[in-house]
Amino acid sequence: MNIILTGTGGPLPDPHRAGPSTVITTASTTILVDAGRAVVMRLAACDIIPPFLSAVVLTHLHSDHICDLNDVVTTHWVMTPEPTDLHVYGPVGTAQAVDGLLSMLASDIGYRMKHHADLVEPPRVIVHELTPGEQFLVGDVSVLTGATDHRPVEPTLGYRFSAEGVSAVVAGDGVPCTGLDELVRGADAYVQTVVREDLVRLVPRQRFLDILGYHSTVRQAAQTAQRGGVRTLVLTHFIPTPALGEYDGWRALAADFDGVVVTGDDLTRVSVTPLS
Ligand SMILES: [Zn+2]
Ligand SMILES: [Zn+2]
Repeated sequence: MNIILTGTGGPLPDPHRAGPSTVITTASTTILVDAGRAVVMRLAACDIIPPFLSAVVLTHLHSDHICDLNDVVTTHWVMTPEPTDLHVYGPVGTAQAVDGLLSMLASDIGYRMKHHADLVEPPRVIVHELTPGEQFLVGDVSVLTGATDHRPVEPTLGYRFSAEGVSAVVAGDGVPCTGLDELVRGADAYVQTVVREDLVRLVPRQRFLDILGYHSTVRQAAQTAQRGGVRTLVLTHFIPTPALGEYDGWRALAADFDGVVVTGDDLTRVSVTPLS
């Protein structure tokens, strides 16, 4: 199984980092987790076009995590020769978000169907709304949902992907909680969105300080990883975004975890293999 950090940025624009998204791949399955800014461009850099996606999975409906879902929907639709389902999994509220997205695209959908005789129907987006504790299959990947705590944003979900003898958790945003601990326990890899509390506190504005209340700090992510006994902690969605390649300060804050810590620029790839 591979984890690709297709977007390591946060809500604020950064010229070098796309918004939050992560790809999970096995030999036969490709799952996109979240669809932040420029996700389709980053997928292209991995030779993944939207028709190759087995599913899109959403952790929550914050705009930075879904703002380019419309691009995924449109490019999946126009690049697929035959009408094909695009499966989108997410928390309750996802159907409403997708309905709104399709309304936003209604004019474009009409233009393209009028112009291309072989585009015989609108995008087929199949939404699956999930709650914590559900398990389902996408290709050869077994997916388990878990409750996360990103309040006041709710509901939110983390996902555990199991295939090829390994498992990886993509937690999305949130602070440590029991649901996350259960989801992470014994996983081979754990991907957590993180903030640097020391740097955020340098900006004396309440709107920035609010960020700390509902995101894991690097230290908290390290402690969750340590409690769960995971092998590899992958940090992403850096707030504030570091200069490319400059992660020493981030890594130093993860000292409570004694496994492998991965930090990386966009398109960092983590190979997860069974212990031999
Ligand atoms: Zn969020
Ligand atoms: Zn976020």
